[in-house]
Amino acid sequence: MGILFDFIYFLWHNLPVELENIKGLGKKRIQTLQDKGIDSVEKLALYFPKAYFDLNSKDVFLEDGKTKLLCVSVVSEVKIVRIRANFSYSVCDCLDLNSNKFKAVWYNQPFIKNAVSFGDVLYIYGKNSSTKHNYFVVSSYKNKNKIKENTNILPIYKNIGGLGQTVLASAVEECLKIAKFDSILPYEEEKKFFDLTYAEAIKLIHNPYNDQILKEAKERIDIERILPVIKFNHDLKSSKNAIKEQKYMDFQPIIDKFHTFLPFKLTSSQLSLLNIINKDLNGKTKMNRLIQGDVGSGKTIIALITCAVCSLSGNSSLFVAPTEILAKQHYNQAVLYFNKLGLDVCFLSASVSKQEKQVILDKLKQGKPLLIIGTQACLNDQIEAQNLSLVVIDEQHRFGVAQRAKLVNKCVNTDLLMLSATPIPRSLSLVYYGGLDVSILEKPPKEKQIQTNIVSVNKEHDMWNFVEQKINDGSKVYVVCANIDDSDDDGYLGLSVKAMFDFLKDRFGENQVLMAHGKQDSLTENKILNQFKEGNYHILVSTTIVEVGVDIKNADIMIIVSPEKFGLATLHQLRGRVGRAGQQSFCFCLSRNFNEMSFNRVKYFKEHNNGFDIAEFDYQSRGAGNILTTKQHGKVENIFGFISLETYKKAQNVFEKINQTYDTSLFYQTEQYAKLLDIVLN
Ligand code: ADP
Ligand code: MG
Repeated sequence: MGILFDFIYFLWHNLPVELENIKGLGKKRIQTLQDKGIDSVEKLALYFPKAYFDLNSKDVFLEDGKTKLLCVSVVSEVKIVRIRANFSYSVCDCLDLNSNKFKAVWYNQPFIKNAVSFGDVLYIYGKNSSTKHNYFVVSSYKNKNKIKENTNILPIYKNIGGLGQTVLASAVEECLKIAKFDSILPYEEEKKFFDLTYAEAIKLIHNPYNDQILKEAKERIDIERILPVIKFNHDLKSSKNAIKEQKYMDFQPIIDKFHTFLPFKLTSSQLSLLNIINKDLNGKTKMNRLIQGDVGSGKTIIALITCAVCSLSGNSSLFVAPTEILAKQHYNQAVLYFNKLGLDVCFLSASVSKQEKQVILDKLKQGKPLLIIGTQACLNDQIEAQNLSLVVIDEQHRFGVAQRAKLVNKCVNTDLLMLSATPIPRSLSLVYYGGLDVSILEKPPKEKQIQTNIVSVNKEHDMWNFVEQKINDGSKVYVVCANIDDSDDDGYLGLSVKAMFDFLKDRFGENQVLMAHGKQDSLTENKILNQFKEGNYHILVSTTIVEVGVDIKNADIMIIVSPEKFGLATLHQLRGRVGRAGQQSFCFCLSRNFNEMSFNRVKYFKEHNNGFDIAEFDYQSRGAGNILTTKQHGKVENIFGFISLETYKKAQNVFEKINQTYDTSLFYQTEQYAKLLDIVLN
């Protein structure tokens, strides 16, 4: 396992081939790319199309709500219509292949006026407006005279900052000529198992000549990416056989003790899980258990009781949360309980001073039982595994593969308890969790349903009016946006955290609205969340930082802006943030960029309340599409969200075969491995 850990450092030693060598990329454009984490020729070559235009499409304008590609002639100049401060649309008249006349609209892209003129022939991708008769809402378009002759399938790239299609397509093409993509396998092995090499697949993803080859190329790339993860699971499984030394006392007396001061009774599901953990801890081999339980199912108390047992047995434990806010929340709760039991608990994160850290490390060294609650920073500290007997990881899906590798590394001999609210689809959990034992924590049945509504642009007004009424009655409202800045995605102008913040201050008044996002330091973030919790503010506009476990009991409205930009598991997590005290609550999904598929996904979310059903549906529906998205942060759903179970099984099959004849621990020593991890992680 140590090797796995070491090779993560490869990431920092990979010198990228300079982007300066690419035609068409000047300093400013390179900076834009770098801001998005694209800092090498290889990474740009891995910027995959978000969609493909089939230029042979004979589709015509119809009001059928279907997403399609039309070839049209522009028969008017473009006009800009302003709706409100951050919201306008561009519109022009078009004729389709059957000479039907209709209006094409681009939301919030005033520059269309300069890019499109009377007489142009365009390919436009989108669908008819659901609210305005004879309107077609364009999500991407391409001017015909900008397309090379004899092109059948045209890749469409998502704009990066100010960089559009044309620049990106030609830069990617240049990068493909230079970039090298070797498989994690030696060439002979690769040829044995695959028709396409990894390098060929990457070229084909950008220039597929038909659907079939696109599918094959995607599968080849998916398998390459998943192989290290499969190897990782394989090793995790093997690590489970270690005989352990640490001893624990029986849980029952401690559960009884907790019941004397807890403000609630543990549910039967919580009790039976504690029983299972009791057996695990008192078994011969180490515990590797994952508890999956929906948001609000009460996982924290299980972890804290387990940590208390650990301390009372004379051992120390570590409880890691993915954010400082969450860690602090757990810490505050733990202090309450641990004080009652006369046990020691301390907090450790990047914001803790050197001296305080030293005190903690000294305590550990002296061997006094201690519970340390903190963030990832704990993983980098000199907390030695021999001082710990138990590690608990909250919201483990938030940790990337590298962090999990570190954790596993730290826990070779310790008992490991992981908590997750992101239900991995049933069909995938076995494969994904490989070496872990998985238990499900059931939610208490009689909770209030949160009413979920889908809000289209023309109903946005009504929604804010409703929010205003509720605020007058004391409501607290979360508004969650996908982007921080408008410049992050030009298809979503006016929908970023900052734009919404401005709009809401206008609408509700300066002293009502707060803003929090990941670009703030964690102290500021903390302060703002506290202001929202304790103060007189009623609206918090933020990115998904509120997704994980933030517990503000009186929040009762969740507005998710552009829900199509999030995985359903994330939507479900967000919805779980309101109604924490059992009050009637509302979730609004506000979108002006739905297509048929994203609308159906959000509709499913609206109609379902069980995280597992939602995860399963999400997984199946994404698996069905063949549109590739570019990587996002190393969350489970992003790593696996677009890999079909079929592909996963194929990859596992390939791994097992390779593992028979080839020493797969050599994976860890290849540069390709580091690069793959980098892809999966970033
Ligand atoms: P999650 O599983 O999402 O981490 P938490 O552990 O944060 O959920 O619990 C959510 C809320 O439910 C907390 O306020 C917690 O105190 C409360 N809670 C936990 N167990 C019970 C229970 N058995 N009965 C009532 N409330 C509970
Ligand atoms: Mg939690």
